[in-house]
Amino acid sequence: MGNENSEIIVAKFGGSSMANLEAMTRSAQISATKNANMVIVSAVYGVTNLLVEISKQAPLGEGEKVEALVEEIADKHNQILIDMNATEELKEDVSELLSEVNMIANGMLLLRECSDRAYDSLVSLGERMSSLIFSQVLAGIHQKKNVELFDIRQVLKTDDQFTKASPDLVATKEKAQQHLVNAKYGDVVYVSQGFMGSTSEGLTTTLGRGGSDYSAALVAEAMGADTLQIWTDVAGIATTDPRIVKEAKLLNEITFSEAAELATFGAKILHPTTLTPALRAGIKVFVGSSYEPDAPGTWIVDKTDSAPLIRAMALRREQSLVTLSTPKMLHAHGFLFEIFKIFNDFKVSIDSITTSEISVALTLDDSALLNKKIISRLSELCSVKVETDLTLVSLIGNEINHTPDIAKRIFNSVEGINVRMICLGASKHNFCFLVDKNQADSAIQKLHQEFIQ
Ligand code: ADP
Ligand code: ASP
Ligand code: MG
Repeated sequence: MGNENSEIIVAKFGGSSMANLEAMTRSAQISATKNANMVIVSAVYGVTNLLVEISKQAPLGEGEKVEALVEEIADKHNQILIDMNATEELKEDVSELLSEVNMIANGMLLLRECSDRAYDSLVSLGERMSSLIFSQVLAGIHQKKNVELFDIRQVLKTDDQFTKASPDLVATKEKAQQHLVNAKYGDVVYVSQGFMGSTSEGLTTTLGRGGSDYSAALVAEAMGADTLQIWTDVAGIATTDPRIVKEAKLLNEITFSEAAELATFGAKILHPTTLTPALRAGIKVFVGSSYEPDAPGTWIVDKTDSAPLIRAMALRREQSLVTLSTPKMLHAHGFLFEIFKIFNDFKVSIDSITTSEISVALTLDDSALLNKKIISRLSELCSVKVETDLTLVSLIGNEINHTPDIAKRIFNSVEGINVRMICLGASKHNFCFLVDKNQADSAIQKLHQEFIQ
């Protein structure tokens, strides 16, 4: 009873959909009802944050804190095992992974060090534990298919940029063809891990925080899936983060380019690179809530009937504004090249940029500047001013920069808020500006009221 002619579905469930047995059971029911072929899961809600905290505390020698964190992680998983009345075998398997957490944490404590490679091995354990437990929950309810736990490291191949690895698309496709044929055509549904992958040598890597969406899209592409379903804690993509504006409206449809801009400019609902594989492979993408599976949700499509001036807005927090000035820039060439080369050497991506005759201002994630060497390299070329604690506010829509008076409407509605840098031009569909982090939510609330409510 293969399903050769039916739709191939990859379903991804985020942390809140794995929060406890109730959430896992709901997610399992959705996986079964939708007849997913491959289910990619995140760590149990909050667990990745706890693992990251271990990676920070252990190198400081904070033994007691580390112990408490390890215990908190164990408690979260053990509670689910108790609630589901788990088999001895499952309890032992989870316990083995928990001891791995403990061993790596102790290794870090002992060495007072956390390499990127060790970090990836540690944080990937969140997904390894959740997928193990979830596969049993799904097996307990699935009527039609056999459920198998699958180690995604066999398929999702990456480079060795630990903590933010990039996929090797060719190797991933090849491995998927080798290992995932049964999920496509057989009576099997695989449960596997988001967020993680492995190098060609088999070392564990991760794709960066929030990377499970990206994992699911990559696996969907490699498998030749038709549909990617992203199940989360909100019933689809809204006009802005409902946590900031409670009147945010759910969108039934959004285009790939609008959704990609929204994700790139900070909307946590999707990891910024999620849509790249989907677009490349022509995969339909659905975003819905695992709490309300029957709600309409959002479909990400090539074209929509409506193209509103402002479709949605987002905040990208923890931004720095770096202003580089030198009189040498006047009538000289090569200066921007030198600057970009430095950013490239440090693998730092620049989000927005404006230039004047003697200066260049660019925005970066705050974390990019933790590496002080980049500042000293830049200082060799020009004077460098860094402002931190900023937030990028962006409006995403259609033909924004071809619309007269739009800037006037935007700035009138955020009157009283200090705007640090404005970017308009590179994309027809995006208008963004930097504000102080404490004024960002208020800016979005005012803009939402002006353009959407
Ligand atoms: P998951 O753990 O399922 O991956 P995330 O917390 O990463 O979930 O993403 C879902 C969250 O994204 C929502 O709870 C919501 O607060 C936030 N969010 C930000 N922008 C939007 C938006 N435009 N529409 C819906 N949710 C958004
Ligand atoms: N568990 C990882 C994180 O919290 C990946 C994900 O959930 O997308 O960052
Ligand atoms: Mg997420």
